[in-house]
Amino acid sequence: MVTLRGIVLREFPVGENDKFIHIFTKEQGVIEVSVRGGQKMLSKNAGATQLYAYSDFSMRCDRGRYYLDSSEPVRLFYKIRENLEALSLAQYISEVVIYVTGQHEQKSDVMRLLLNTLHFLSEGTRSCGFLKAVFEMRFMTEIGMMPDIVCCASCMSYIADEMYFDLMSTKLYCRGCIVPTDDDTLVKIPASVVHALRHIVFADFDRLFNFKLSDINMKKLGRITERYLLIHLGREFKTLDFYRTLGI
Ligand SMILES: [Zn+2]
Repeated sequence: MVTLRGIVLREFPVGENDKFIHIFTKEQGVIEVSVRGGQKMLSKNAGATQLYAYSDFSMRCDRGRYYLDSSEPVRLFYKIRENLEALSLAQYISEVVIYVTGQHEQKSDVMRLLLNTLHFLSEGTRSCGFLKAVFEMRFMTEIGMMPDIVCCASCMSYIADEMYFDLMSTKLYCRGCIVPTDDDTLVKIPASVVHALRHIVFADFDRLFNFKLSDINMKKLGRITERYLLIHLGREFKTLDFYRTLGI
């Protein structure tokens, strides 16, 4: 028997009384767990195995497959499912985490980032656009794709509101040092957006979600973090396409 603490990121019903759940754990990345045993088993574990529940799972492992024995909820982010925008953002975040982390031990703090993001999504005290941008850039940082946004990567200067961020090379350049490219991965970046990016990359978790930006700069930040993630993960996400259709 093995007990792991983790977050339910996906669930797949099997018949009326059974289901599979995908759990993100610190020890083993994402694992698939079978919740079988009929209505009694399902009702006993209903809270702890629901989507976005953070729970302790006691399981038996048989030939590489996990079967749930019992579970105990630690924290339930149930309000996420009451809001379509929050739910669709949580689905996108889940797809990204499942795609990137695989079945490996998590040495970085993706778990803490995920828990913090789900907390604010559930409480509704930060906008989805804000949470999406913070998650995207901090997630990339946690998995080793931290952008170099201190000063111009070429001449080390920093001139407020005159800097450009190269999404491809992940570096900042001043106007004098930019090299025109054929693609549009070079974006002019206002000073307040540079400051926000630095905060997301460097801040401790207890301060991570504590900053403000004007609406227009929040949109600029969101465009940058989304493109940064998509470029460096090298794919699209269906859940992101759906989130975008909400047009919020
Ligand atoms: Zn320069």
